[in-house]
Amino acid sequence: MSKIFDLIRQALPELAVTDDASALVAYGKDWTHHWTPAPCLVAWPRSIEEVQEIVRFAAKHDVAIVPSGGRTGLSGGAVAKDGEIVLSLDKLNRILSFNDVDQTMTVEAGAVLQVVQEAAAQHGLQYPVDLGARGSCTIGGNIATNAGGIRVLKYGNTREWIAGITIVNAQGEVVELNKGLIKNSSGYDLRHLMIGSEGTLGIIVQAELKLTKPLPESQVMLLALPDFASVVQAFTSLRAGLSLQAFEFFTDVALKRVIEHGASNPFDDTYPYYVVTEFDADEEGALKLFESGLEQGWIVDGALSASNEHKVKFWHLRESITESIAPLKPYKNDISIRISRLRDFLSDAEVLFARNYPDFEVIWFGHIGDGNLHISITKPTALSAEEFATHCAAATNELAALITTHGGSISAEHGIGLLKRDYLSSTRSDEEIAMMQAVKAALDPAGLLNPGKIFAA
Ligand SMILES: Cc1cc2nc3c(=O)[nH]c(=O)nc-3n(C[C@H](O)[C@H](O)[C@H](O)COP(=O)(O)OP(=O)(O)OC[C@H]3O[C@@H](n4cnc5c(N)ncnc54)[C@H](O)[C@@H]3O)c2cc1C
Repeated sequence: MSKIFDLIRQALPELAVTDDASALVAYGKDWTHHWTPAPCLVAWPRSIEEVQEIVRFAAKHDVAIVPSGGRTGLSGGAVAKDGEIVLSLDKLNRILSFNDVDQTMTVEAGAVLQVVQEAAAQHGLQYPVDLGARGSCTIGGNIATNAGGIRVLKYGNTREWIAGITIVNAQGEVVELNKGLIKNSSGYDLRHLMIGSEGTLGIIVQAELKLTKPLPESQVMLLALPDFASVVQAFTSLRAGLSLQAFEFFTDVALKRVIEHGASNPFDDTYPYYVVTEFDADEEGALKLFESGLEQGWIVDGALSASNEHKVKFWHLRESITESIAPLKPYKNDISIRISRLRDFLSDAEVLFARNYPDFEVIWFGHIGDGNLHISITKPTALSAEEFATHCAAATNELAALITTHGGSISAEHGIGLLKRDYLSSTRSDEEIAMMQAVKAALDPAGLLNPGKIFAA
């Protein structure tokens, strides 16, 4: 039993806390697996007041806090490896209120995304942020990472859907940011500073979310394509002729992994690239574009959904990639490049991997409509875990240099966390990083909140 654990039990006897070894492991990590979890305790506040008390306790005893949501993060943002307090929002998960006139819903930060989506649907509306981790990730985690997902093409990132946020700051004070206003030109918009701050500037305890009309009826097309240039061609042609809701791609290697994980192959042959795209229902328009793609050679095979069952089946191929490769403990990159440069970037990256890392299995997939590529590398059996980690760090360095050349970002939607900390300067200038550090120092001078994430503590 740690000294801090004893002290917190004495200071806050009503607080739910544990230092049970299995809880420390489970709550000290996210979906990454590069670090050994080692928090000193896990605390589950049930009220904002308890969050304040934990922050004040941590400040008094000089212990760091890692805010923790659904722990589905892919960049080590929720990892606690240095004796921190894990402040889990699990028990602050209520849907608090619905505002019919403003079309907003106020929820606690630990509310799970899918629960929020279902609550919005009960009011005939939609909370349109959607991602594969919807059943576990939380609104607080989504805000802290500015989560993207599969509908960014139509609706934008989490940032677009936040009317207001309530935080507990590093001093233990409750601060309301923006208060649900649509227009608010009264100085810095601190709400937006908090969005994407990865738990380093404040603990999000509540959020007022904007809602919108439900998605119009849709159809899904699954396409097979001969090369990456055709993926970009398909995107621009389909975008011009249809109202796209999502446009996702993956490679034959990704499909192979999903099939090994239990999915059935929808095609008789294998093709280098596949697309799953969802659009406002328009069968005639979609078939016309499909035929023109076949004629011009940028589509080689495909199918249009004729039922909800088809839609689910097509989406499953794309959405189960992360889960099907998870047992292989892949090294992940989540990069962003403007759409017009995707083709050149991918071809440079493929040359880089083929030349310097011929033994790597590289699995490409992502949200083409947002210029977002996910690159997962699985460990060759011949390499030890340490050797693999060293090779991946070297590959990411080279990839980061390419990203700089092509004007992209080392993190599109997963955040920087611990995983991409050393590569921040491939995307951000020295001046930008200095400004970010100045903000951190001003808001959290003692370095209490998630230290070591985004930049070194
Ligand atoms: C199968 C799968 C699919 C995914 N698909 C996508 C996708 O398409 N798009 C996408 O963007 N991401 C995706 N992700 C990544 C992940 O789901 C998102 O990053 C998500 O927003 C994390 O939410 P969480 O509640 O799990 O946060 P956590 O992992 O618990 O935390 C993430 C970060 O937020 C901070 N944090 C959490 N809660 C709070 C809070 N209340 N206050 C302050 N800081 C907080 C943590 O300290 C950490 O830095 C996927 C993950 C998986 C496993």
